[in-house]
Amino acid sequence: MSGDSLDAFARQKLNSLEAKSLRRNLTVTHRLSAVEVERSGRRLIDFSSNDYLGFSQHPKLKEAAQAATADYGVGSTGSRLITGNHPLFRELEQRLAALKDSADCVVFGSGFLANSGIIPALMTERDAVFLDELSHACIFYGARLTLGAQHIFRHNDMDHLRELLTAHRANHPHALIVTDGVFSMDGDLAPLGTLGTLADEFDAWLMTDDAHGIGVVGDGRGSSFANGADHHVPLQMGTLSKAIGGYGGYLCASQAVCELIRNRCRTFVYSTGLPPGPIAAAIAALDLIEADPDMAARPLRLARSFTRALNLPAAESPIVPVVLGDTDHTLTAAKMLEEDGFLVVPIRPPTVPEGTSRLRITFSAAHQEAQVERLAQTIRDRVMGG
Ligand SMILES: *Cc1c(COP(=O)(O)O)cnc(C)c1O
Repeated sequence: MSGDSLDAFARQKLNSLEAKSLRRNLTVTHRLSAVEVERSGRRLIDFSSNDYLGFSQHPKLKEAAQAATADYGVGSTGSRLITGNHPLFRELEQRLAALKDSADCVVFGSGFLANSGIIPALMTERDAVFLDELSHACIFYGARLTLGAQHIFRHNDMDHLRELLTAHRANHPHALIVTDGVFSMDGDLAPLGTLGTLADEFDAWLMTDDAHGIGVVGDGRGSSFANGADHHVPLQMGTLSKAIGGYGGYLCASQAVCELIRNRCRTFVYSTGLPPGPIAAAIAALDLIEADPDMAARPLRLARSFTRALNLPAAESPIVPVVLGDTDHTLTAAKMLEEDGFLVVPIRPPTVPEGTSRLRITFSAAHQEAQVERLAQTIRDRVMGG
């Protein structure tokens, strides 16, 4: 039977992952609060989630999602172009556009859907995409779907990007430069000032993925507004699935670009609109961020006190990598932290480059300072070897 060879194929692939300590498993995680989870019968302080503001559990967001579900139902019933465009979308898009200093905004089903749709909607096989090597997987996925050229520059290396633009830009009608605004596994920021200057100089379009920037850097407005970045980024993509607490993706751009996306982007046109609940929750999240800039600053403040305690380079975002290199060593360290009551999920290839397995530690406004101090002490004593 053909199913036999299919199963043999799958088993052989899984075995080869297992041999490299790269086979992964789903673990049921029961969330007790914004920073506490129960896993395999153990209560753990969570230092791995992307819930930077604790919004996944916030009463105001739950209330908003419940009210929207009661008013409009659990699903949107169709693509937004057919029947799925319930009234809350427009309100959220206007709020996001204002937050990002953009004329318009389009909300997508997720961040992954946004990137994998936006890039091929703008670029053809005759064009070129220039990408930072540490950009998120869905940016690479979107770039590949253009069927055009891809030029990958070394992480945050603006000289290398200039070299690539000099060598290749003239061969293509259009060029797009894409980067994470805040890098998801390293926590550092892209040099948006220089990127903007290079984009102007070489007539390339600049796109940032601010999945880890919105809500937590630049007074909650994201990486385009942090570190004195003053260059307008014409394509600001992001997600509602991290600091915003729920689920969804967005693109903030000009009216013409957003209108083109609503017409031509396959992951927008051919996918069902998000349900009303997460849209209402996202609006409530923006209310809270705008009302309390100090809350938006807290995760980074906690990350900085952690990097100070361990003599690591100062955190630039609420994401702090402790790179251990070896995958088995990283798995052991994570297991040991779990025994001490911390959830710090090990990150290994292909999520990060070969030889850079790490503990990726994330900070939330809902963490207490004492919890951060205790984690730093445990890592100092038990992972970094005292
Ligand atoms: C998480 C993430 C995404 C995907 O967003 P989802 O809403 O989870 O699909 C995209 N880009 C980056 C940099 C991310 O970290």
